[in-house]
Amino acid sequence: MSAEYREDVMSLSLGELQEALQAMGEPGFRGKQVYSWLHQKRCKEFTGMSNLPKSLIAKLEQRFYINTVEIRRKIVSQIDGTVKYLYELQDGNRVEAVVMKYHHGNSLCISTQVGCRMGCGFCASTLGGLVRNLTPAEMLDEVYKAEEDTGEKVSSLVLMGIGEPLDNFDNVMRFLEILSSPEGMNLSLRHVSLSTCGLVERIYDLMEKKLGLTLSISLHAPNDEIRQKTMPVSRKYDMDSLLRACRDYFDQTGRRVSFEYSLIHGVNDSDECAWELARRLGGMNCHVNLIPVNEVRERGYKRGSRQQIERFQRLLAERHINATIRRELGADINAACGQLRRESL
Ligand code: SAH
Repeated sequence: MSAEYREDVMSLSLGELQEALQAMGEPGFRGKQVYSWLHQKRCKEFTGMSNLPKSLIAKLEQRFYINTVEIRRKIVSQIDGTVKYLYELQDGNRVEAVVMKYHHGNSLCISTQVGCRMGCGFCASTLGGLVRNLTPAEMLDEVYKAEEDTGEKVSSLVLMGIGEPLDNFDNVMRFLEILSSPEGMNLSLRHVSLSTCGLVERIYDLMEKKLGLTLSISLHAPNDEIRQKTMPVSRKYDMDSLLRACRDYFDQTGRRVSFEYSLIHGVNDSDECAWELARRLGGMNCHVNLIPVNEVRERGYKRGSRQQIERFQRLLAERHINATIRRELGADINAACGQLRRESL
């Protein structure tokens, strides 16, 4: 049977794998065994699954394939040890992931789509549009390969690489289910952040799942007028409905929402912007991450001075809005989202 007809085994949840194996006439415990080979021992070939009978290995090879990613390029920051990977998928597409080293452990930022169709004006990932969604297996292997290559555990994960995770909702949910399963990597979803440009209906779908992850909203503006200049998605969902969804998210899950605000000089970094932002977010249990915009050649946006960014933070703090300026990691390796893939195209 050719690969096209085989099923992507690493994208199956434990329950699905158990069902599939039982339907193949295998005893109940085989599902857990195969799952553990894939997600704990990270075995990349059925023939390496040494406690399975040969006859089962042959059946597995006929029915399934293991969808892995390969490290095509790796760049290590000389400043802070940040590692950036360009991964190649089995169909030749490429995505990026970044390992950031903190005192409390390694944080990994992964991609959820090949390209993106959200069209944010400052972002490199969206320049060529959306090519396709990543499968759960591909997202899992972004994590597994980073652990294998660094020889260190990933202790927290952010879905902030290429793509809009809520635009690939089902695959991302299944990825999180497998990632957090005790029979798999067993990563607590408390250590996962999902970043979205603000697909409001999907935020409601997400809160229903009660996953305990941190929701991070790419806000980047204090009002619809400015937001519409850089984020096309804001024409579909206005800020009122987005912020209402964030309040509801907190009420439903008890998890504080985090807002990303990339400061773009002359666009969203004035004192008036800070005041208005503070007004809009007032009374909300939230945190604002201020990010000096990464200058992307094709985009032409500029960042302001350090003093201006600090002033913006101070203006928010005076109005009781909890804000931090994101420490820049990997400044020497062009760690901005989507730039490495872009270069390689
Ligand atoms: N699509 C999701 C996640 C991927 S983008 C989202 O929009 O949140 C990850 C974060 O990087 C988002 O906050 C995004 O707005 C921000 N970002 C993209 N390009 C950037 C740039 N050039 N400078 C600063 N932040 C950028």
